[in-house]
Amino acid sequence: MTRLYLSNDTSARAAGTERLAQAWASAPGLELVRTSARGAFFLEPLVERDLPGGRMAWSNATPDDLPNILAGIGGTPVNRIAFLADQQRVTFANFGMTRPLALEDYGSLGGWQGLERAGSLSPDAIIGELKTSRLRGRGGAAFPVWSKWQVAKDAAADQKYVVANADEGDAGTYCDRMIMEGEPFRLIEGMLICARAIGATRGFIYCRQEYPAAARTLREAIAAAERAGWLTDERGRFHLEVFVGAGSYVCGEETALLESLEGRRGVVRAKPPYPALSGLYGKPTIVSNVLTFATVPSILARGGDWHASLGTEGSRGTMALQIGGRVKQPGLVEIPFGATLAEVIERFGGGMAAGARFKAVQIGGPLGSLFPASRLDIPICYDAFSKAGAILGHGGIVVYDDGTDMVELARHFMAFTADESCGKCTPCRIGSVRSREILEQLQAGRSRPGDLDLLADLGETMKGASLCALGQRAPYPVLTAIEHFPDEFR
Ligand code: SF4
Repeated sequence: MTRLYLSNDTSARAAGTERLAQAWASAPGLELVRTSARGAFFLEPLVERDLPGGRMAWSNATPDDLPNILAGIGGTPVNRIAFLADQQRVTFANFGMTRPLALEDYGSLGGWQGLERAGSLSPDAIIGELKTSRLRGRGGAAFPVWSKWQVAKDAAADQKYVVANADEGDAGTYCDRMIMEGEPFRLIEGMLICARAIGATRGFIYCRQEYPAAARTLREAIAAAERAGWLTDERGRFHLEVFVGAGSYVCGEETALLESLEGRRGVVRAKPPYPALSGLYGKPTIVSNVLTFATVPSILARGGDWHASLGTEGSRGTMALQIGGRVKQPGLVEIPFGATLAEVIERFGGGMAAGARFKAVQIGGPLGSLFPASRLDIPICYDAFSKAGAILGHGGIVVYDDGTDMVELARHFMAFTADESCGKCTPCRIGSVRSREILEQLQAGRSRPGDLDLLADLGETMKGASLCALGQRAPYPVLTAIEHFPDEFR
């Protein structure tokens, strides 16, 4: 029996692994193993096979490639695929090797070691490791993780909650989905460590509606972990469930998420109080995104000092960057903070796609600044981005080519904000609609003198007076498009 490995990740399936699985389903002497994804989506469908010299891969495979694969003809050693070999993977180290719901795969590759170590530590010692690690939340705000955990741990309450924010809505981001579909036990382990540290007995994974496969896999993974006893310790059982949202971008904001989780419309709450003190149903709640929780097990297993030794002064550890748009090699890249945008686009993205010329890059989803070629020397870390008036967000990098209409791009992002605004505060609710209208008038050739000044004024008002990041950040794509590509706005 020959065993071949094919990813079951949604992106890999869309790129053709499902077609191969169906074509080869009844091939004699063949066992197809469905795994997590390597994240090298430009190589999908990627077929792998264990040979005496190690794991071999056949990229962009078609059903007709089966005879060659079985004969061991062609193929590349996985460890010589530069896109993968040049990365320094921690959270995604085992992706492509593990079967998503196989507890034995997860355990045999280091899974649960963080939780086991946490079991031997006091809550303060767990939080101490997080403090030493200098881990900052990977969802956008980049708040020190230990600090939120300390507040929730110190709060006196009869009930505390741990909530994973799986409402991954930024354009070009998918690392949370890869974790939930590919290594769901890693997310569960991170949440269990948090629960132990703060004294929580209930948890929710708030999964966006657009991720049905992730929600399904998570539910099965929770049941499997529960059967294996991982959800129970000397304090009793940790009740963990999946909650599917209704498709609102603003529910990625933690307080809107909590409103939705409580059964109401996703409207942002004023802060303070912060969720760590008064969150779900008014109880202390840690809300972090999936990638943040998934980073925690390695920190507990290998120690906070190890994590702090990676990255830059203000940005420790690794970052999962998701490169997309008009590059040759779209995919997931995990490297320590500090590489420049140019390095990432060239070395990992492979440069521009055939026939395309670089025009701009955006990081941070629909709220991210647009950078021209002259700004590609910015290091990927929180401080440098903040200094440049930008956000790293969830690590989505979208590259645009010279065929991109920047006015239309700016209008598109402002229309997105107008659609997704929760409506609670006036600068965002009205400012986004008026800004979109000005851009539409410009496109229709009906702009009036002073319109761009008005757009800038509206942008400054939204930045300074909006209640949450959606309104505060929405002007950035528009204002940076005008700053760097002024000719297109005349
Ligand atoms: S900034 Fe926009 S999304 Fe945020 S609270 Fe105000 S209206 Fe709602």
